[in-house]
Amino acid sequence: MEQADTFERTMDGAREALSRYFGYDSFRPGQERLVQAIISGRDALGVMPTGAGKSICYQVPALMLPGITFVVSPLVSLMGDQVRALKAAGARPSYLNSSLTPAQQNTVLKRAREGWYQIMYVAPERLLEPRFLSFAQAAAAEGGIGVPLVAVDEAHCISQWGQDFRPSYLDIAAFIEALPCRPVVAAFTATATERVRADIVRALGLRRPETVVTGFDRENLFFSVEEMGDTAKAAWIRDYALTHADESGIVYCSTRKAVDELYLKLAHALEPVGIHVARYHAGMSQPDRTENQVAFINDAAPVIVATNAFGMGIDKPNVRYVIHNNVPESIEAYYQEAGRAGRDGDPAACYLLWNGNDFRLRRYLIDREFEGAARDPEAAEFARQNRYRLLNAMEGYCQTTGCLRGYILRYFGDEGALGVERVPGEDAEGGCGRCSNCTTPYETEDVTDIARAAVLFVRDSGGRFGRALVAEALHGANNERIRNYHLDDVAGYGSLSHEPTGRIKDVIGQLIGRGYLVQSQGQYPVVGLGPHAVEAIAEAPDSPFGFTMKRRASKARGRARVQRAVDLLRDEAAGIAPAQAGMPTTRRPHVGDDADLFERLRELRREFALERQWAPYMICSDKALRGMCRQRPATREELLEVPGIGEKKVEDFGDAFIAEIARFEEERAPEA
Ligand code: ADP
Ligand code: ZN
Repeated sequence: MEQADTFERTMDGAREALSRYFGYDSFRPGQERLVQAIISGRDALGVMPTGAGKSICYQVPALMLPGITFVVSPLVSLMGDQVRALKAAGARPSYLNSSLTPAQQNTVLKRAREGWYQIMYVAPERLLEPRFLSFAQAAAAEGGIGVPLVAVDEAHCISQWGQDFRPSYLDIAAFIEALPCRPVVAAFTATATERVRADIVRALGLRRPETVVTGFDRENLFFSVEEMGDTAKAAWIRDYALTHADESGIVYCSTRKAVDELYLKLAHALEPVGIHVARYHAGMSQPDRTENQVAFINDAAPVIVATNAFGMGIDKPNVRYVIHNNVPESIEAYYQEAGRAGRDGDPAACYLLWNGNDFRLRRYLIDREFEGAARDPEAAEFARQNRYRLLNAMEGYCQTTGCLRGYILRYFGDEGALGVERVPGEDAEGGCGRCSNCTTPYETEDVTDIARAAVLFVRDSGGRFGRALVAEALHGANNERIRNYHLDDVAGYGSLSHEPTGRIKDVIGQLIGRGYLVQSQGQYPVVGLGPHAVEAIAEAPDSPFGFTMKRRASKARGRARVQRAVDLLRDEAAGIAPAQAGMPTTRRPHVGDDADLFERLRELRREFALERQWAPYMICSDKALRGMCRQRPATREELLEVPGIGEKKVEDFGDAFIAEIARFEEERAPEA
């Protein structure tokens, strides 16, 4: 009875901290369970997509429990931002990593010993360093300041199954073990397949953790896949950036060279119309990188072209689009990078542009990485196979004609999330209605003849050739390679002379996808017979072999529809029901236009940010600004009602925002 009472009080305390520091009046369902577990002394595991609000889950307990919470994070660049943001919210945070001078580290440790900090971000490499360890041991010992919680961010880094494996993460368990009194341990990650999840629990030694796996679906993201040549990609991206000039976007390329080339093309086309473009990769000098990153975060350069070195630790909430100019190495990587769009919950779009060169390059990179390097050949081969497995899943994503969102969610074992939502008249099999495959009309074609000829040809030529060569031979091409390998002597040579080679290749791709053929790994993959090949070859009279393929009805039409789907989402976000757009609304009539006011408040926010050398979003989010435009607060109390505005923000900037709103309304008031 009494215990329940105490418990209620603590949950009240958590809600109070949430409101005071962050300006939100309720936890999201997953957050509530995790916070509850942590403050009642239980380990926790939170698997939630980017933007779901993982940091709140450990920050709120850290700010209310006595003692110092350690947050282990691999993202050195993020630590500074997180700490600045927490400070701006009125908390007492700190961080310890290699970006601090030894003197600064001394100061941080000294203040920590005095019990000044509520939360400290630490790099994993630091944990077993004698000086840090002895500080932590003293803190956790009886009579010390107390260590209520160790939170592990990006916990998937502990698993060798993923691609972000960090050996130093294996030290975390030893660190916890070395503490005289075991704190609560909570782990968080945005990307974890079943396998990785099990690794996290085991390697961190979590004890019966309260586990919350929220849906991986990011409802506000629109997904699109487009196959196109390299030149077409650059033109497509240029046009997109031009038609979305007031939006912020990231364009990912797979190599530094590709970044530099695309950057030049985009800068050439966009700078003259006043859209600044930034670029970022590890080959640039540190000052250049920082300058570009800051320009992007502060909205001075709305578009940034970057390798995957960019983004870890970038917490910019209003990224409206992420375009992949090349294929990433895995679905995990893709979802993480694409997931940097729309953190603020407003509609955003993720485009993946690809062609066969992307996969050739990826295979080449994998092979090069493992070339000869092997001190332990078996482990190297295991790792290499694993990388191919991850890449194959990516290839499946590019080639599927099914729902893209569904594909990703299945990959992460989150099948239930999508339900059976249907889009009337679109796709009888159902789908999300918010991906390019669900919004593009497909036609079904019977390609049984091509399929059977291809399977037979692979059998008769011994399964030793790549997809392109098989297609060329079936088409009847007469080139050197065909002659050298005597493919013109194989029975099916030229039997599909009336079909374009590209179409034959497409069918072979679909045959691979559905298990009739298989493709080997390596840089020059060859096509062999798959487990279902016999069905295609055998002439069973009662169940004749049939093979159909879906293809896009019309590319241009499909694209127009994609655009419309995004616009529709935007309208919804702006609170305009599609049917009512353009009709009189029932909302309270506002003095002046919300969009104009938004620009004014945004300018004010920019000034505050410049003064303090913060990113604008640390003052408050776009969403909070829009909330002010809608709610038009006239007092500090009313301003506190705006989601995302906490007490500290009201204290520091509230009067200025309120005054600006009042000024705006006065200027725009109709003449009496
Ligand atoms: P993650 O770490 O999971 O990517 P963040 O912690 O960055 O997510 O949170 C994403 C966004 O959601 C942030 O803008 C954050 O302020 C907001 N947010 C988190 N929790 C809540 C909540 N309970 N109510 C409203 N907004 C929230
Ligand atoms: Zn879909």
